[in-house]
Amino acid sequence: MEIRKIGVVGAGVMGNGIAQVAAQIGCDVVMRDIETRFVEGGMKKIDGFLSKSIEKGKIDAREKDTIMGRIKGTVEMASLSDVDFVVEAVIEDLDLKKRVFKELDELCRPDVILATNTSSMSITEIGASTKRPDKVCGMHFFNPVPLMRLVEVIKGYSTSDETVKSTVALAQKMGKTTVEVKKDSPGFIVNRIMIPHFLEAMRIVEEGIASIEDVDKAVKNGLNYPMGPFELMDLTGIDIAYFVTEYLYKELNKESKWVAPSLLKTMVRAGKLGKKTGEGWYK
Ligand code: NAD
Repeated sequence: MEIRKIGVVGAGVMGNGIAQVAAQIGCDVVMRDIETRFVEGGMKKIDGFLSKSIEKGKIDAREKDTIMGRIKGTVEMASLSDVDFVVEAVIEDLDLKKRVFKELDELCRPDVILATNTSSMSITEIGASTKRPDKVCGMHFFNPVPLMRLVEVIKGYSTSDETVKSTVALAQKMGKTTVEVKKDSPGFIVNRIMIPHFLEAMRIVEEGIASIEDVDKAVKNGLNYPMGPFELMDLTGIDIAYFVTEYLYKELNKESKWVAPSLLKTMVRAGKLGKKTGEGWYK
């Protein structure tokens, strides 16, 4: 089936990026959040990104207007009733995601694929909250969505090969490089590798071995990573790092290597979540 209209649930860091890349390939997009201020925030982010693209000479003002014109922001879930494909990007909370999927399942046509952008959680469990688990899969974008090349496509226990194939094709149409995660496992590929490096970085600081700045400097210059772990957490959200860590601890046999450092908990409790709150490890 041709995908002409895409629903995005959540207008936050990831949701607005996904809405933008969907509109850039010519799809109409409905981006839904729970409050008008979040919808407006998402639209503003897209507007800002596209304005910068004009400054860089990548698009012209008319193209920007065309892309913006394809995106409808809303707080009404019912506006998603006629979409051809859905990507969910609400916060990393399994119960919330299951509730959203149940609602989407009742609202959307039975042939519509419902994909989740979860960073770590069980696609199988999210799929089981619907009557179409064969049409539920993971479609894991990276931050910032318009710039990062990778999409992990994850197969849940009941996900059909056809669903994986269509999701891979859509991601590739969006210009993304895809990898297939054949088995639904916590953290998939990238976060299973990335979270331990975050945790070790925080332990190094907690143990007084080095400063935040020097850990970032060491990783960038010694491993040739474009960003240090603290800079990356500030960009992606310290709360997300915490939720994913807690989930991996619970799911991966409660091994001590997955225990969240108290520094991480403190940052979340203090509401210092990184770029999105104006302050995290750095101001
Ligand atoms: P965010 O907090 O920036 O945005 C989440 C948005 O969802 C908020 O605006 C919130 O109001 C909205 N929301 C909550 N309940 C909703 C509902 N019922 N309907 C519609 N909207 C609702 O979070 P984010 O960083 O965009 O993360 C979203 C998802 O993407 C999470 O599952 C996260 O793990 C995943 N993810 C995040 C990153 C990252 O770098 N931040 C990368 C890959 C995947």
